[in-house]
Amino acid sequence: MVSKDMLKLGRVRSAIRELFEFGRKRAAIVGNANVFDFSIGNPSVPPPAALTEEMIRLLNTCDPSALHGYTSAPGAVETRDAIAENLNSRFGTSFTRRNLYISCGAAAALTSVLRALTVDHHTEFIAIAPYFPEYACFATTAGGKLVIVEPDMAHFQIDFAALERAINAHTQAVIINSPNNPSGVIYSEETIRALAALLTKKSAQLGRPVYLISDEPYRELNYTDQPVPFVTNYYSASIVTYSYSKSLSLPGNRIGYVLLDNDMPDFDDVYDAIAGSARVQGYVCAPALLQKTIARAAELNLIPDLTSYQKNRDALYGGLSAFGYRCMPPDGAFYLFLEAPGGDGDAFAEAAKDEDILIVPGRSFGCPGYVRIAYCVAYDTIIRDLPGFGRLYQRFCQ
Ligand code: PLP
Repeated sequence: MVSKDMLKLGRVRSAIRELFEFGRKRAAIVGNANVFDFSIGNPSVPPPAALTEEMIRLLNTCDPSALHGYTSAPGAVETRDAIAENLNSRFGTSFTRRNLYISCGAAAALTSVLRALTVDHHTEFIAIAPYFPEYACFATTAGGKLVIVEPDMAHFQIDFAALERAINAHTQAVIINSPNNPSGVIYSEETIRALAALLTKKSAQLGRPVYLISDEPYRELNYTDQPVPFVTNYYSASIVTYSYSKSLSLPGNRIGYVLLDNDMPDFDDVYDAIAGSARVQGYVCAPALLQKTIARAAELNLIPDLTSYQKNRDALYGGLSAFGYRCMPPDGAFYLFLEAPGGDGDAFAEAAKDEDILIVPGRSFGCPGYVRIAYCVAYDTIIRDLPGFGRLYQRFCQ
């Protein structure tokens, strides 16, 4: 006998994984270069050269037992110190190692936090559409549930009236993700201020904190001259889940962290519950080599080179708009969220397969009238796929 829930999760592939597999099959027939795979958010730029050099230096010079041995469960103190210092210098905060729990990427950070905050099966977490699909299974397997709130569809910022209606006695936290996967939208400072005000009001009404979980794997992928507001500077019951998967192009190496604000009510309880949750899920002591590497990345303040993502974004957004497609100009991350001509994202994504264009239906993200295009691909792929998008537009709009 096995768990029915786990069996289902293991057997039913996500829409993204499904497309990825379809792409592999098509590539065997038509060749890799003729499959335009925009399905998965795998960074197309290599990690910064300084990071690779640092890893090689570590491998060549460190005592192997220190390099490959266990660190303390929440992460090596040097790593947490270096990250805290880096954040303090960039965001005017005053974090120490005690604010940080190093995790195996954002997924592990999120599952640790959601499980720590789930008090019983009535516990609710609110996500604002469009949202990262894994939030749903992370919340339900933690023992709670995910409630989705529609965004302000004109700008994909938060619809505060809808959010306020959704907050109730079971709400533990609101999850935001900015820069956003899949819309590429960055929440403005005005949005973050209004969110902090609403959560402060609701926390006072409920007599306990409504936490803000800010999922930030794309924090540094920002193409605007406006900074991404740093949530702990606006709201004290903030928990940040961060990943180096996208910012330093390290998705296969599973490294990130959970950060708690200093003024978090019940700080010790929340931190220790996250530690307990990480423990039972086996997420203690994130990979030691990676911990040492990201400590150096923090000391060197390594940031991603956005040139090629920006070039892709401009070519894709410009090309699609010229055909007549509509979408929000993506300000961050490496996704473009397109309004499906005809209004049915499933039908459009299915038809795109006829052009060997692989894009993800928006239904997975809570917006069925859209499709997501991950433009972290070679520039040449963007240019060569545009005629296919042109034919699709004709097909749906005649
Ligand atoms: N959160 C969001 C919004 C993401 O897009 C992703 C990955 O694509 C994750 C979390 C998980 O990231 P990680 O690879 O660090 O587990």
